[in-house]
Amino acid sequence: EVSLDELVAWLRGFQKLVADNRVYLTELDSAVGDADHGANMDRGMAAVVTKLDEAPATALDDLFKRTGMTLVSTVGGASGPLYGTFFLRLGTSLGASSAASATELGAALRAGLEGVVQRGKAEAGDKTMYDALAPALDAFDGVAGSGGSAAEAAHAAFEAAAAGRDATAPLVARKGRASYLGERSAGHLDPGATSTALLFQALDEALG
Ligand code: ADP
Ligand code: MG
Ligand code: MG
Repeated sequence: EVSLDELVAWLRGFQKLVADNRVYLTELDSAVGDADHGANMDRGMAAVVTKLDEAPATALDDLFKRTGMTLVSTVGGASGPLYGTFFLRLGTSLGASSAASATELGAALRAGLEGVVQRGKAEAGDKTMYDALAPALDAFDGVAGSGGSAAEAAHAAFEAAAAGRDATAPLVARKGRASYLGERSAGHLDPGATSTALLFQALDEALG
């Protein structure tokens, strides 16, 4: 079982990792985009934490729906609607409970990925956040589906997300601003895949 408090700790931990990596994420986005991914994510997650400080989350759907709506409204650019949709779908999937099993969390993360794909139409190898998210969820489900704990699943997911992030480096971008660069997008990590690896690092740390 994963508690509401642990999932609040996940989001707070993600905010800290994003703040610590703000300059790095923006450097990555300066190579293949418009040099704002660190600023975008930092602004969004700071707003999420401020709202949690003002009014603590009452249930899993409240936590994740507020997070999603805050990201959509405070983050400009591609990542706001994509991360926003991800968290909104998590909230819908988990509902008004105060805890989730490992498999319920896996199903909710999967619903989040489906929302990202509906919005952004990314496929494997397009050099986007999908390339960290999809393998992370496959790893999570593999562990949770064979009876592993949520902490074990989150650890496997983080390792897979990091590998997926690293595998974006040689790819030529086919979605988002980086795709405007064509072949010149190769040789750089994707910023969104890098922030997604931080998302799973935070989950691993929160549940571990
Ligand atoms: P913007 O590109 O609008 O400035 P950000 O810099 O905040 O927004 O986010 C860029 C990241 O968004 C990319 O590195 C990529 O991972 C992700 N991204 C962009 N377009 C898509 C898409 N269609 N599907 C999935 N992810 C995408
Ligand atoms: Mg950008
Ligand atoms: Mg931008």
